[in-house]
Amino acid sequence: MINTLSSNPVVKVNASYSVRHIKLARWVIEAASLFKPDEIQWCDGSPEEYDTLCSEMTKSGMLIRLNPELRPNSFLARTHSSDVAPAEDHTFICSQAKDDAGPTNNWKEPNEAKTVMNKLFAGCMRGRTMYVVPFSMGPLGSSISQIGVQITDSPYVVASMRLLSRMGKKVVDALGLSGEFVHCLHSVGKPLAEGETDVAWPCNPDKKYICHFPETREIWSYGSGYGANALLGKKSLALRIASTMARDEGWLAEHMLILGLQSPEGVKKYIAAAFPGACGKTSFAMLVPPADLSGWKVTTVGDDIAWIKPAEDGKLYAINPEAGYFGIVSGISETTNPNAMRTLRENCIFTNVALTQDGDVWWEGLTDKPPSQLTDWQGNSWTAYCGRPAAQQNARFTVPAANCPSLDSRWNDPKGVPISAFIFGNRRATAVPLVTESFNWDYGVYLASTVGSETTGALGSVGEVRRDPMAMLSYCGYNMGDYFSHWLQMGREVKSPPPIFSVNWFRIDENGKVIWPGFSENFRVLKWIFERTQRKAGAVQSELGWMPSYEDLDWNGCETITKKKFNVLMTVDKKVWLKELESHKGLFDTFGTKIPKQFALLRELLQLGFKR
Ligand code: GDP
Ligand code: MN
Repeated sequence: MINTLSSNPVVKVNASYSVRHIKLARWVIEAASLFKPDEIQWCDGSPEEYDTLCSEMTKSGMLIRLNPELRPNSFLARTHSSDVAPAEDHTFICSQAKDDAGPTNNWKEPNEAKTVMNKLFAGCMRGRTMYVVPFSMGPLGSSISQIGVQITDSPYVVASMRLLSRMGKKVVDALGLSGEFVHCLHSVGKPLAEGETDVAWPCNPDKKYICHFPETREIWSYGSGYGANALLGKKSLALRIASTMARDEGWLAEHMLILGLQSPEGVKKYIAAAFPGACGKTSFAMLVPPADLSGWKVTTVGDDIAWIKPAEDGKLYAINPEAGYFGIVSGISETTNPNAMRTLRENCIFTNVALTQDGDVWWEGLTDKPPSQLTDWQGNSWTAYCGRPAAQQNARFTVPAANCPSLDSRWNDPKGVPISAFIFGNRRATAVPLVTESFNWDYGVYLASTVGSETTGALGSVGEVRRDPMAMLSYCGYNMGDYFSHWLQMGREVKSPPPIFSVNWFRIDENGKVIWPGFSENFRVLKWIFERTQRKAGAVQSELGWMPSYEDLDWNGCETITKKKFNVLMTVDKKVWLKELESHKGLFDTFGTKIPKQFALLRELLQLGFKR
C-alpha cells in the first residue's frame, strides 16, 4: 500500500516499518488524497525521531530550545494569540440523534459536520508533512487500553503525543492485521502556497472545529494546534469517545487522578478523585504529606484521566490511559507542588510560559518575587512593573510520566490498580463542607452529579455556582442524564462498590479568605478517607453524610487549623442547604426525563432531613 503512494511523484512517504493493516493503510491514503500534503511520515516513536522533530521545530521557530544546563532537553512553544485554550464553543458531539448529545453538549448532525469539515480539510496540508501517529491510551496489551491513530500536520502535536501516550511502531504492531482503532484527523488549517514561508505557530484564527463521532469512533479537528483541541488522545479520545465506549461496554472513563496511598504499616490503597478544571488534580496526585506525618507515602498513577473497569474479583480496577502529563503551570512552585517541580527538570515542552534572560522558564507563582526582566509568552520584553502577566494564564507543561519522582510502581500495570474510594472535589466558597462520606453508592453518585465551582470576587463576594457533574461537563460524550444512570448501574456491577467522598478545599471566611491551607495539608483529609475504608476512623452522622469530628483527623504538626476553624469548614447550614437543594433541582430539570428517578427521591429525603 505504501509503495503505491511512494510511486506517486508528488507525495514522498517516509516510513521505517511496513504496515500490514490494510484498513489503516487505505485510510491513510484516503486522508492524504483529501489533505494533499507534500510528504507523509509514519511516526515510529523513536527517540531519534523526537530529537529530529524538535530540532526541525527549533529551526522553523515553533520551538525555542531552553538553556540545556538549566533545563536539559527542554523547549518552549509560543502559540498564536488566538490559539491558547480549549475551543469549547467549537467542540461538537456529532451523534445521530441530538438527544444523545444531551443538553450540555454542542451538537451537529454527523453528515452535516462532515460536509462542512471535508470542505475545510480539502488541500489543507499543502506545503506540509502529514504525520501518521499511532498511539495507545493505556499500556499496550491491557484489556482496558484503546488504540488510536491520529493524522496531523503539526510536528508539535507529534512530539507532544510521544510524551503523553505510548506512540509509534509498537502500536502498529499491536494492531496486527485488523485491530480496531479510533480514527483521528487533525489539521492546523493553514496550507502553504508555493514558496510561502511558514509562521511560527500555524493555525486558523477564524475557523475551528473539534467534532466527535461517538457512533463511528472518529474525531475530526481543524484550525487549532493547541492542547486538547489538537492532542486528540487526551480529552477527545480518553474522555469524550471513551465515555461512550464505557457506557456501551460497562466501564467508566472519568476525569480523575489516581493516587496510591501507603500507611506506615505498609498497607497500600488506591484512590481516584475528580475535580473540576484547575481545582488541584495534578497537585493532589503528586501530594507530599506534611513532615509530621512521616511514614505515609503518596504515589502517582495519573493526574487527569482514569479508565475504570469491573474485574472478576468484584472490584473496580483503574488505569491511567496517559503516559505523561499536560498540566497548567500557573501556581506551581516548590511550596505548592515540589514533585511537579522535580518532574519538570528536564525533557519537557513548555507552552506559553515566560522566558528568563538565561534561557529558563518562569510563570506567575513560581517564585515570590518575579525576575526583574523577562520575555513574555508572546515574545515581548517584560518587566515586573509592566502590568501584564508574563505567562499566559493557561500556560502548560508537557512531560513524560517517567520524570515524576512520586510515580507509582504499578502505574504501567496492564491490570490496573484496585480502587478503594472515589473522591469528588468542589470549588465552593460556601455550603459544601471540607469532607463528607456518602451514606451509600446511589447517594454518592448524587453528590458527584451536583459538584460545582463558585467564583469569588474581590471582598469575598460570592458569585454563581457553575455545576460540573463529576467534573465531566465538558467531557461527557453523550447525554449526561444517561451518564448518571450509568454511574448508578456501575455500583450494581461490583460486589461492594467503593465509598464515595465529597471534598471542598475552597470555603471562605467572613473576609473572603480561603480558610483551608490546602496542598500538603489535604493529606489530613486523605488519611481520614483511607482509615474510613478500613473502618478505623470515627465519624458523626449529619444530614449530608458521615463527617469527621475535629478529633477524627490527625492534626500532628498543624497549628493553623483550630477546632473553631475546623467547625466553620464543616458547617452544614440548613438555610443554605435548602437553597442549595433548589439549585440541584434546577440542574436536574435541564435533563428532563433523562434524570434518574432516584435523584428526585434523594433530593426529597435531603429536604426532609433539613426541614425536620
Ligand atoms: P488541575 O488543573 O485540576 O490539575 O489543577 P492543578 O493541580 O494544576 O491546580 C490548579 C490551581 O489550583 C493551581 O493554581 C494550584 O495552586 C491551585 N490548588 C491546587 N490545590 C489546591 C489546594 O489544595 N488549595 C488551594 N487553595 N488551591 C489549590
Ligand atoms: Mn492537571
